[in-house]
Amino acid sequence: MAGLRGLCYPGIKDPDPKGFSLMKLLVERLSTTPTALAFDADASWWEAVGGDRDAAEPQLQGEVHFTLSAQKLAEELYIEGEARAEFECTCSRCLVRYRHALREPFRIVLEPAAERVPSEAEGADALARYGLWLGDELDAGWFRGTEIDLTGFLQEVMVLAFPVQPLCRADCRGLCPQCGTDRNTQSCDCEQVRSDSPFAVLRGVVTERGD
Ligand SMILES: [Zn+2]
Ligand SMILES: [Zn+2]
Repeated sequence: MAGLRGLCYPGIKDPDPKGFSLMKLLVERLSTTPTALAFDADASWWEAVGGDRDAAEPQLQGEVHFTLSAQKLAEELYIEGEARAEFECTCSRCLVRYRHALREPFRIVLEPAAERVPSEAEGADALARYGLWLGDELDAGWFRGTEIDLTGFLQEVMVLAFPVQPLCRADCRGLCPQCGTDRNTQSCDCEQVRSDSPFAVLRGVVTERGD
């Protein structure tokens, strides 16, 4: 299962036969001139990172496209790029299935770890295994060795980019909580003011006054 194809840069090693560690950067190939890279990862990669656990989860349509530019200035590495993908997912308000276009830029600055070791075990493990450790903000960290495996970072980018509550459109009106009518397409006679709205209280006051 090779989740990656279309390698266009000799600094990227061949896809790992296991299909997990696919995106490796060779440090000695980088220079002050930005190097452009592109990867396409298919559905098997998305599944491998736990993207499609069941049918209700967002389903990748086609491939995930990663483009990035990497350069080495003095001792530091600058990597910036973008992830693009289309998913079919369920609107959290009206439950309709829709196509969600995801476009997520990222940028990281890495300095050599040298003799430093991240204080938490997970970070130390990542630095040893992937040659890469990033802080909580995922925008800066350390690298070690000649090879940096970006797979985990790019997985993280994708997972964080995905909205917790996907919406088919920003102004989706959702389903009526009482009768279930899709308020995007039909209206119903149920109470229009939601009880948790601050205006519901106000409305109660107005009604008591006899308006
Ligand atoms: Zn919706
Ligand atoms: Zn209703």
